[in-house]
Amino acid sequence: MNGTLLCFDRDLRLTDRAVYAASEPGSTLVPLLILDRRRSERIARNPRRAAYFCAAVAQLDAELRQRGSQLLVRRGAIDVTIRSVARATGARYVAWSKRYDPAGVREDLRMQAIVEELGLRALAVHEAVAIDPERLEFDTDESGFRSFNAFYRLWRAPGTLRAPIDVAAQFAPSVLPSEPLPRPEEFGAAAWRYPVGEGTARAALERFVNERLVEYPRAVRTPALPTSGLGLPLSFGLLSGREVAWSVRRRLEDPFLLAEERAGIERFLRAMARRDFLLFAGTESAPQPEDRLFARSSAELPALVEARTGFPLVDAGMRELLATGEMHPAVRAVVASFCCFDLGLDWRTGMESWEGLLVEDEPALAIGNWRWSAGLRIDMHFPRIIDPERQFLRGDPQGRYVRRWIPELALLSDARQIHARHTGQLALDLFEIGRYPNPMLDHRARARAFLARYAAWRAATLPVGDPRSSR
Ligand SMILES: Cc1cc2nc3c(=O)[nH]c(=O)nc-3n(C[C@H](O)[C@H](O)[C@H](O)COP(=O)(O)OP(=O)(O)OC[C@H]3O[C@@H](n4cnc5c(N)ncnc54)[C@H](O)[C@@H]3O)c2cc1C
Repeated sequence: MNGTLLCFDRDLRLTDRAVYAASEPGSTLVPLLILDRRRSERIARNPRRAAYFCAAVAQLDAELRQRGSQLLVRRGAIDVTIRSVARATGARYVAWSKRYDPAGVREDLRMQAIVEELGLRALAVHEAVAIDPERLEFDTDESGFRSFNAFYRLWRAPGTLRAPIDVAAQFAPSVLPSEPLPRPEEFGAAAWRYPVGEGTARAALERFVNERLVEYPRAVRTPALPTSGLGLPLSFGLLSGREVAWSVRRRLEDPFLLAEERAGIERFLRAMARRDFLLFAGTESAPQPEDRLFARSSAELPALVEARTGFPLVDAGMRELLATGEMHPAVRAVVASFCCFDLGLDWRTGMESWEGLLVEDEPALAIGNWRWSAGLRIDMHFPRIIDPERQFLRGDPQGRYVRRWIPELALLSDARQIHARHTGQLALDLFEIGRYPNPMLDHRARARAFLARYAAWRAATLPVGDPRSSR
């Protein structure tokens, strides 16, 4: 048979797949899910993520059955599984979605070696990004740092964004017996309680584009307002970056577009471009000289993870994460800055502390954003320390977000009152408020101490003319 084993990993959808276009014309696809030890261990590290994954896989299988096929599930080593399924089906190709984080890239290389050793052809395809990577070359400035702005100009240039891929695929009827689908209990998780799948994700995208895009620029800096919520289905590949960016950009063709809508579209496209930028840069997590400015552990970390730092916006963010597995993007930046600069912790420590909590499953974006928060941007290195109290007063002036997640503070009327509770400017003796701690540290003193350490390190280590020494 002229067949291709299509290994599902990150892209749990059937439509808009670049892999169909890359496969041999007329090729029959055998949908395969391999749960090897590494993958199973990774899934089991986060019960909510495991539940979401199982629900998405069940939906994928249901859609394959509607097409007369079925997901072939195998638990075992990748090489043994591919050999036996290829032999049984006569497939000559093995296809999968490219991964972008360092561990994923290593996994892709291992997979390629396994496939080629078996005498089969490997097809690793870019599925997640919004653009056709062939059309884009990274711009580099003379320091060698890649610049997001230059990337964005290319990303937004006519012809770079790729339309969703409308190529039909033919799936093989289920001839081999499958092992049971992965179930949440297998990973110590409870069932996911909401609908999951590419149809649900597409409906959410449409709702967002039609109803909330206009609000996006405000939502993205206001913790009390929801952003698109598309990060989660995107990270499991229930939607592609192509489809999301394309649907949003198409709105620009409306001749009656209001200025606010245009602003919403541009702001959102920039967010999607940042996603591509960080995915392409996802392999860059090599140690940096600045790493020595940060500690790998601290006795203060539990206060952050248990949401009792006494900084309301930081604690509200962590409580949202603990309760739901998500955190508003604006608050993520505040919590990450607090972790890196106030607590002086290495970005990897911060990222690991979210690993078991955050449902989104895109390690390259986690790495890119945590590095960015620690001042180790791809295009320049410089610490940008966020003042959590000032950000709270500015982003959540009525305290709606904070009061929602910290009930101890719910009786206070706004951010100013909440801020004043520990400065002696507010004489309140309410039991609930008393249960919420005062700030665990002096933010300004910590920020000054970090900057002093940074300046000393920079003077001692960076040669004159290094781009980091002049910023
Ligand atoms: C410290 C930190 C850690 C993060 N960890 C992750 C992570 O583990 N996994 C993950 O998918 N995202 C991560 N992000 C990026 C971003 O916060 C999420 O993509 C976003 O919160 C998802 O919610 P949304 O879809 O409602 O976002 P929206 O604001 O609606 O954004 C729309 C889409 O644009 C993309 N996007 C927006 N902001 C970013 C960004 N900063 N970087 C990359 N893409 C972006 C996402 O695909 C998102 O779905 C992190 C950000 C920070 C500051």
